[in-house]
Amino acid sequence: MYTARYGASIRKMVDKAIKAKKTRYECPKCRKLKLARKGTAMWACRGCDAKFAGAAYSFRSEAGEIAARIIGEYSKTV
Ligand SMILES: [Zn+2]
Repeated sequence: MYTARYGASIRKMVDKAIKAKKTRYECPKCRKLKLARKGTAMWACRGCDAKFAGAAYSFRSEAGEIAARIIGEYSKTV
């Protein structure tokens, strides 16, 4: 399995990303815990076949939440 070779903190980051990408997330459509990673930022539900754009290694990221909030507020003003 791939892992970063040098530096403890980089190895920790890689471990975290691999764990996050293997985790099953809750599907926003059917609420089942069946959302799996299909590719970079691509997430698909194995229950209802819905597809979502998420973060690269986890379904939601801090940066993604901020972007979603900004888009939400902007669409309220227009
Ligand atoms: Zn689903």
